Amino acid sequence: MSNFSRRKFLATAGVSAASSLLLKGCLGNPPSATVSTAPVAAAPGPVAAGDTPETTTVKLGYLPIVEASPLIVAQEKGFFAKYGMTGVEVAKQASWAAARDNVTIGSAGGGIDGGQWQMPMPHLLSEGIITDGNKVPMYVLAMLNTQGNGIAIAGAHAGKGLGLDVSGAADYIKGFSANQGRKFKAAFTFPNANQDFWIRYWFAAGGIDPDQDIELLTVPAAETVQGMRNGTMDAFSTGDPWPYRIVTDDIGFLGALTQEMWAFHPEEYLALRADWVDAHPKATKALLKAVMEAQQWADKPENRAELVQITAGRNYFNIPPEVLKAPFDGNYKMGDGKADINSFDAGPLYWKDPKGSVSYPYKSHDTWFLTESMRWGFHKDQLTDFDTVKRIVDAVNREDLWREAATEAGFTDAIPKDTSRGIETFFDGIKFDPANPEAYLNSLQIKRV
Ligand code: CA
Repeated sequence: MSNFSRRKFLATAGVSAASSLLLKGCLGNPPSATVSTAPVAAAPGPVAAGDTPETTTVKLGYLPIVEASPLIVAQEKGFFAKYGMTGVEVAKQASWAAARDNVTIGSAGGGIDGGQWQMPMPHLLSEGIITDGNKVPMYVLAMLNTQGNGIAIAGAHAGKGLGLDVSGAADYIKGFSANQGRKFKAAFTFPNANQDFWIRYWFAAGGIDPDQDIELLTVPAAETVQGMRNGTMDAFSTGDPWPYRIVTDDIGFLGALTQEMWAFHPEEYLALRADWVDAHPKATKALLKAVMEAQQWADKPENRAELVQITAGRNYFNIPPEVLKAPFDGNYKMGDGKADINSFDAGPLYWKDPKGSVSYPYKSHDTWFLTESMRWGFHKDQLTDFDTVKRIVDAVNREDLWREAATEAGFTDAIPKDTSRGIETFFDGIKFDPANPEAYLNSLQIKRV
């Protein structure tokens, strides 16, 4: 980093009230939601006769992290308009809780029709589990990205063995209460979803019980980073560009990238209210085609520099572009003596990865998120058994619409044969067979079931 860009970065990640506001803007907690409307004129597009969308408008929420790229690119590169969706609004959400509240009221009530979600938020919304019993049926339509997330550790804990295999640091973490007067504290920005699952898996694989040996809590990102600076917070499970920022600003180091824990893992998803999709099936497929084209565009290495410029812009993440360049190139400084990771395939990917399709929403992945919820005793009154898991996945996952849209658009290079990606293997050797999730639960040492 040049001195100039470092100063700019410090200004963004700094400690003043003003920079705290900036930080919130970067991290999904802006002072108020901002809306970007389509700046691109509708290009004559491949909308076949009979495929004209039932509506040209929809409001999609996003959080300012790299997962949102397909939605932002579809807007800014004119792909939504190309498929006839000329009135898409891509609306920044103040937090995951705000996105949940906004989709509960829908765009008719001033909220959103859907957008970007951590998993399994669409399933939990559908079942009324995170909305006080108010069921908001949702459809999962596509995966937005894989990878692009990591576990950051405060610099005070350097040299203690907090790497991918954290077992060597188990005594240090478990002894924290006796030595420091409090438990080791780790944060995420929304409970019972991706970033909670990643850090729990990582600790548990190292023999550290995340419910007993440490304290896990939901904290706004800006407060978390401030806490890591001043010694009151120890770890942060988070998405790019945060892992890069925390290391380059000497706040801490990276314990692990999620890519190291589970290569080409499911990350965040596009999901809309079921009532919107049911009323607008052609518009839904038009949105899907645009998002798919954006994902293909975003995966071309020669487009990543423009992707940085678009997403870093004032209307979107509102951060210095250099903060996004490294993660979009797959370059991660790990810190704490660990070798840097420099591989395009180690960063966020959007359309395809070496395992096949990124965009296609595998039911086997939905099943893992709900199985992992059972592992930790989340929503145990509702997620009682695997028949229930299957019922929820079958109701929420609309891979059929993804297939139809991909086929109609001619995007045939990433259509899987099966709704399952097959057996998944984690970094600690544990396997998840979607056909037998019970065997996965049985194979785990630390769990609440
Ligand atoms: Ca994420």
